[in-house]
Amino acid sequence: MTNNTRRTSGLSRKRTNRNSSSQNKSQHNRSLRKIQPKGKNKKIYSKSPLNNLLTKAGIIFGIILVFYVIFIFEFPANYPDTFKVSNMTLDSNKIAMEIETDSYKGKLIPLDILLTIGKGEITLVGEKETTIVFANNKKIILKDGSRKVKIDGKTQKFNAPVVKYKDVILVPGELAERLLPKIAKFDNGKIAFTLSGDKPEGEYQNFADYDGYLRLVNKENPLTKNYEPTDLVNVNSLDSIIAYGTNTKLRDEAAHALANMYKENEVQYAMSSGFRTFENQTQLFDDEVADNIKAGKTEEQATQAAGTIVAVPGTSEHQLGLAVDVAIPGVILTEEFKNTPAGKWLINNSYKYGFVLRYTKEQTAITNIIFEPWHYRYMGYPHSEILFKEEIVFDTYIKSLREEKVKYFHAEDGKDYIIWLLSGSLKPEKLEFNTSNGIGASSDNGDGIILTMRTQN
Ligand SMILES: [Zn+2]
Repeated sequence: MTNNTRRTSGLSRKRTNRNSSSQNKSQHNRSLRKIQPKGKNKKIYSKSPLNNLLTKAGIIFGIILVFYVIFIFEFPANYPDTFKVSNMTLDSNKIAMEIETDSYKGKLIPLDILLTIGKGEITLVGEKETTIVFANNKKIILKDGSRKVKIDGKTQKFNAPVVKYKDVILVPGELAERLLPKIAKFDNGKIAFTLSGDKPEGEYQNFADYDGYLRLVNKENPLTKNYEPTDLVNVNSLDSIIAYGTNTKLRDEAAHALANMYKENEVQYAMSSGFRTFENQTQLFDDEVADNIKAGKTEEQATQAAGTIVAVPGTSEHQLGLAVDVAIPGVILTEEFKNTPAGKWLINNSYKYGFVLRYTKEQTAITNIIFEPWHYRYMGYPHSEILFKEEIVFDTYIKSLREEKVKYFHAEDGKDYIIWLLSGSLKPEKLEFNTSNGIGASSDNGDGIILTMRTQN
């Protein structure tokens, strides 16, 4: 630096410095200074201190304004009037969904899928802010109507805000990739999570309301008179367990599971009843009522009593083609079955094949059906193991899924399962799934669709 530079004040020094830094001691600089008379240069700065101050204030104001626009100002959020999950696919290694909204098109996903796959827990709900901690320890704070999400204490801005549609919270889809970078992929309204390295095996099926093995059937969740499964097979055609009587059919998967359970073990038993039509059940029920009336009960008493022993038509699991009554010679549909080798073996092992004892002794108050040690229900694995291990009946299981929506389970097969009940606005318009490896979708026989997903542990 020359003496000349040192003598000049404020802005001029800045200007000289900026020039010299950008052009590094250039000749151009020096020649400029030579041209400008010293006196004149001094005059400009001594003359306008107010001007100088105003300029500085202007710059500070400008910086604040820019800061405000970039970091604080936000346009009010545009809450969507429509939202739907238009398409969903589920297979043994991946779940994907397409989201449609009228505002922020292609930029939003439901928070629920993030919570479900990332095992997120809402730890704090403020007036506007929601704090969520995920299984990978990432912590986020969402603010309704804001594009800014605090991730592990750092504010990050997204191209869409957090908005609500009815009971569904929608978040920017890019958030999924930031939180679960290894498994999440988001692109223009399509969100996909890779759950494991498994390859899909089963055939894709289009989901229909009556599908699945998790339909709860009881007094509050009846079947329609016309319901009849389309994939019934005669158990006697499987060349394994024997079915006798007239009701020898079960749905395909249940029939094969029963045959395998029988084949792989040395306990003797037979199937005494499988699928029954609504009409079969009506006949059984009417017979029971008639017997009660003969025994001296009024019609009302007779009907009431019959309902605890024979399922009221429409409320029998036998109409599902997923229930099986098991018997051994001489012990048919009596409580004594629990003391037989078959009764003892089934109660402790059937869950491995997807069956459970449906009407337990301890929980008749919940099932409203007497203890039936002979009646087994197929619901598929790992659900059967959950019921067995947690000592709950099917009614309780579905009730808790309807309330909690999600269940995580580490099963004996060494795999981790996510069981997710979709209801209300989260139900997809179209759902494709495959049924291999315990992966699939099922109606709960109410408003819900239950997805069963296997994840890598
Ligand atoms: Zn039965």
